[in-house]
Amino acid sequence: MPDKGSSEIVLHGIGGSPGICIGKAYLVDKEGVDVVPKYTILNIKLEEEKKRFKAAVKKAIDELHKIIAETPEELRENAQILETHVVLLKDKMLYGRTIDTIECEHINAEWALRKVVLSIKPLFDGMQDSYLKDRGEDVANVSDRIMKHLTGAEGTRIGTIDKRVVLVARDLSPAETSQINLERIMGFVTDRGGRASHTSIIARSLEIPAVLGVEKATRKIRNDDVIVVDGTSGMVVINPSEETLAAAETRKSEFEARRAQYARRGHLPAKTKDGLQLAVMGNIEKPEEVMAVRERGGDGIGLYRTEFQYMARKNFPSEEELFENYKDVIEVMPDKPVTIRTLDINGDKAVAYASEPEENPVLGLRAIRYCLKKPEVFLTQLRAILRASHYGQVRLLLPMISSVEEVRESKRLLAQAIDSLKKDGLPHQKKIPVGVMIEVPSAAIMADVLAQEIDFFSIGTNDLIQFTMAIDRSNRQVAYLYNPINPAVLRLLKHVAQAGARHNIPVFMCGEMAGEGIYVPILLGLGLQELSTNAQSIPLIKNAVRLLNIEQTKKFMDRLLKQTTIQKIESLMQSTYGDLLNNGQSTHWER
Ligand code: PEP
Ligand code: MG
Repeated sequence: MPDKGSSEIVLHGIGGSPGICIGKAYLVDKEGVDVVPKYTILNIKLEEEKKRFKAAVKKAIDELHKIIAETPEELRENAQILETHVVLLKDKMLYGRTIDTIECEHINAEWALRKVVLSIKPLFDGMQDSYLKDRGEDVANVSDRIMKHLTGAEGTRIGTIDKRVVLVARDLSPAETSQINLERIMGFVTDRGGRASHTSIIARSLEIPAVLGVEKATRKIRNDDVIVVDGTSGMVVINPSEETLAAAETRKSEFEARRAQYARRGHLPAKTKDGLQLAVMGNIEKPEEVMAVRERGGDGIGLYRTEFQYMARKNFPSEEELFENYKDVIEVMPDKPVTIRTLDINGDKAVAYASEPEENPVLGLRAIRYCLKKPEVFLTQLRAILRASHYGQVRLLLPMISSVEEVRESKRLLAQAIDSLKKDGLPHQKKIPVGVMIEVPSAAIMADVLAQEIDFFSIGTNDLIQFTMAIDRSNRQVAYLYNPINPAVLRLLKHVAQAGARHNIPVFMCGEMAGEGIYVPILLGLGLQELSTNAQSIPLIKNAVRLLNIEQTKKFMDRLLKQTTIQKIESLMQSTYGDLLNNGQSTHWER
């Protein structure tokens, strides 16, 4: 796209979800609250403004008291942090100074609050003591809470935007992204984030274009600017010229036509040229997405990320709520496998009522580690899954397994859940297949041992690449290191595939690598039996399988594993399959 005319500005980021949208920008700040407005307050309105601030603080305090009161006894220790927040809300440093600032500078409460927080946060950040340092985060949290009440949070949450717009945000949390209303939001652009982040993954599930990791997008794009978002190439154009707009419209139509063409063949089986049939499954975050998987020809659900049912609410869901959710999904696919992954919270999917601040949340008390530490939370979910399993073909998948002990402890709790259901006389599937995610390098290395304990592996490349390469999958600064065809990653994949084959258990993949056509020869060559991806990519992956010959992919894989650099691997992939699978496009995820 040419960078024409004086007002057109082109920004580059990471293509998070393919497709093109054109529309007016709508800027939201972190957590979906509008960018902080600034205006002068007349003398006679000062009292009113201070009252408005006090009312927002009161609402924040009431809200916290309610959350604390609703926290179950066994999780009371988590509520301690909220008690600290109540104290901070009344603290002179924040409360008193904001009121003084409104008074002295004649500015609105939102701006005064922001100004005070910006002046006190560095004091905490500069402290040596990690406890005091964390208090800086608490100040930020508390101010966010007041801000939401000041700006009328209900009216400005992403879920309630009432015009058709393109969102522009510093960052969107996975929970916020999952609130997007498709009738209103055409796509989004963020300053932060990477292609394997959960925010990107959800955008692909929602089938809206998204560009992430665009440096200073929120500074360069203004509210109501017309922007073109190209989630395939990772480009954003502000105030496009007539020519740019026309070119974008053409590419949009071509993209949609191509997608529709693939979709028409989605229901046909994914059979290689030499007759091997592969299952191509769907990944879902919310129960309603199961319909899209079915419509796109998915052979089942390969990954149900259940943690999203725990987000955007104030306390743990009950067994009954979870059971109904799982049953809803299974009833749409009663004749096909539905793989329910147990709770994978924390890391970037923190849940306020269940998470405590951690220095390194991605490496912290998350997923199975959390569940084993809080068996009451795990058992509630296990019982719900087991009860729902009565209505179809459920498989249980354990996330973030890093040792055989974790598998054994999980199975012990599963047996306990089964026993309790028997005692209660509640129907459930008698024998439920149990699999583990292979997404931590230690699990990949120990795959031969784990294979003897469980029924299947599902490789989660999103985390496996992140932990193998020691990079944050959501950080655009190190996105250049995030590459599924890194030789170290390929060797690990080979090791896992071999362990599965030796111990006669199937090996699946549900990480994002399974959703890109160009990687299908690698995955077939490794002997994977099932690939699971977002609904929109199912027809594309099935199409790629149909173009390939399994024996050839095995030979290709032998050659590929001898290569020692990404460059050599990529060039061998392109020379062998580039024309067939992606018209010679680069495989690099930053494209
Ligand atoms: C993965 O890590 O590859 C995976 C599928 O899980 P998630 O993206 O939810 O972390
Ligand atoms: Mg993962």
